[in-house]
Amino acid sequence: MSTLTTWLEETLCTLNLTKTMDVPNGFTRLSFTNEEKSAHHAFQRVARELGLSVYEDEVCNQWAVWEVDPSAPTIAIGSHLDTVDNGGGYDGVAGVLSALGAVKMLKDQNFQPTKNIAVVCFVSEESARFGVSTIGSKAISSKLNKEEIADVTDRDGITIKQAMEDFGVNWQTLDNVTLPVQKLESFLELHIEQSTQLVEQNADIGIINGVACPVRLKVHVKGMANHTGTTPMHNRQDAFVSIAPLVNFVQEEALKANETATSPLVATVSTMQLKPNAMNVIPGEIELGIDIRSVDDDLKRQFAKTIETFCKEIETKQDVTISITTLVDNDSVALDPIIQGKLQEACKTVGLSAHEMDSGAGHDVMNMASKWPSGLIFIRCKDGVSHHPDEYAAIEDIEKGTTVFATYLQQQTSKA
Ligand SMILES: [Zn+2]
Repeated sequence: MSTLTTWLEETLCTLNLTKTMDVPNGFTRLSFTNEEKSAHHAFQRVARELGLSVYEDEVCNQWAVWEVDPSAPTIAIGSHLDTVDNGGGYDGVAGVLSALGAVKMLKDQNFQPTKNIAVVCFVSEESARFGVSTIGSKAISSKLNKEEIADVTDRDGITIKQAMEDFGVNWQTLDNVTLPVQKLESFLELHIEQSTQLVEQNADIGIINGVACPVRLKVHVKGMANHTGTTPMHNRQDAFVSIAPLVNFVQEEALKANETATSPLVATVSTMQLKPNAMNVIPGEIELGIDIRSVDDDLKRQFAKTIETFCKEIETKQDVTISITTLVDNDSVALDPIIQGKLQEACKTVGLSAHEMDSGAGHDVMNMASKWPSGLIFIRCKDGVSHHPDEYAAIEDIEKGTTVFATYLQQQTSKA
């Protein structure tokens, strides 16, 4: 095994605060907890060993900088170290690890970059604790409204404001974290694919064109609760029965849309709340949550309209009232085509096959892309499983991503 492979294996464990990746319950490092803090400390130790200068910004993102010239442009690369409950040790970690690994490769070759290289570890990427995602990258790219999130609580009733202050954030000066655009030239992130396209396409590296952001609908149906034993079948306003066809409709219409669409669309009825949810009462109310994603914003909005029309038909046929609320409707994020070309070039240089694709999941890069030219690459992850203890990416695949980053950095920071 090469020294890089060994280093990657060891550092993967270090960043995961473990001695082995074979952990049956997976990893739990929720946002702004002691566990996330410990992972940040591990990051600092690894970065210092590589000779990088380490600092923390106002939102507690960790930065490790290879500074060659304070007046030279800076390329930032990174991801996050927090996880969901019982998550895997690769989502986020693989991105931080490959960024550090790329710096190690260049340093081992005595390479002298002409630009500064900054490895960043964003705080609180996952929404598992507060339902708010990518807080660290939102903060530096001027997309965080602290007053809007201050009072959001976790399941123990702790507010984001409290959790962040306990973590070391000064709430009063938090807004100073916004990074002026000239501070960075560009941003790169590596992430595990969380899907199986790379294996299906027999490709090593995914080069991402765009990140699909969701339209999220809340469908509220009001019928009438009544006794299951005494209410005859012909005289019911069962909210659940009336809306049940919508679940299949969403699935079938999404399949149909993909037959003709140029960009894939995915749509899921992902939540359901039944009222009163009692064995002897006809469901009087039901609320469904629907998540629709595609990088084609028109397509996903058109799909939301189709759902509305279908619900209107149900309303006229059945004796129920349906209201639909749009919870989220964000434009998808296009990544920088020039960087995509350079990443293709880096893959070619090291003999790795690249596959162009979109990301169905959000990542820190989507915030960074609103302010800086940004790129995202995927590496394979076993069976597409993520946010689960079985999440796995082979060390060879992490090494491939690391090599692509090192090559990219070398090509973009060499003396002309
Ligand atoms: Zn992630």
